[in-house]
Amino acid sequence: VEQRIRESEKLAVVGELAAGVAHEIRNPLTTLKGFTQTMMNAPSSPEMKNYLNIMLDEIESINLITNEFMVLAKPHMTITASINVVPLIKQVTTLLTSQANLTNVIINSKFLIECGEIRGEKNQIKKMLVNLLKNAIEAMPEGGNVTVTATAGNTGNVLIYIKDEGIGMSSGELQQLGQPFYTTKKSGKGLGLFVSKKIIENHNGSVRFKSIPGEGTIVEISLPGLEETMKADNTPFIS
Ligand code: ADP
Ligand code: MG
Repeated sequence: VEQRIRESEKLAVVGELAAGVAHEIRNPLTTLKGFTQTMMNAPSSPEMKNYLNIMLDEIESINLITNEFMVLAKPHMTITASINVVPLIKQVTTLLTSQANLTNVIINSKFLIECGEIRGEKNQIKKMLVNLLKNAIEAMPEGGNVTVTATAGNTGNVLIYIKDEGIGMSSGELQQLGQPFYTTKKSGKGLGLFVSKKIIENHNGSVRFKSIPGEGTIVEISLPGLEETMKADNTPFIS
């Protein structure tokens, strides 16, 4: 009997698989990193030192990729916590301030009225915000303003906007967003948006991008509010 798996189920399986593989890679990777670092302390020749440096760089690269996928693992708790988005956004902006400073980017946050709480996996939401905010910062290599706004939507949802004054994207580029490994950056991994979209999907939310080349980009994230997720019986976090 041929079974048709719905697209969303397929994606969920892919996410779980990627997270599982990433998790399994972590321990051996830590071992490799440790021994490589130990060897770095007494390299047998300058040539060897050069090889070891390359190995550490490559290990770090694997680390970055696995970290992106790790976050897709299903939370172990049956019901996840309520998250107040305002302190979380403050935490994330603080986290990225030093990176922003390097390229003269200023991060402003505006919190319009009580924008309420959402329910979900805090680490996932945090990761998603970090990924999107990083992209906003990286879109402005010559500096500028990033504005993060949080507000209450009309349907009990929480809306988060991340606006930058960066390089922007053409409609062709916009269409490719979220494809795994799609990147236009020299040292980009092209996983940030893929993972972020999946996180938003996991939380029954949605994301939209508006962009004008040379002018900037606005990302609009909508996440169901706490009340909404309490009512819904298909919340992914209840098992
Ligand atoms: P990475 O940042 O590693 O390239 P992402 O998945 O985070 O991977 O982003 C994929 C691509 O989407 C980027 O390389 C860039 O071309 C484009 N992009 C994402 N966010 C923005 C933005 N705010 N402004 C301009 N381009 C963006
Ligand atoms: Mg990115």
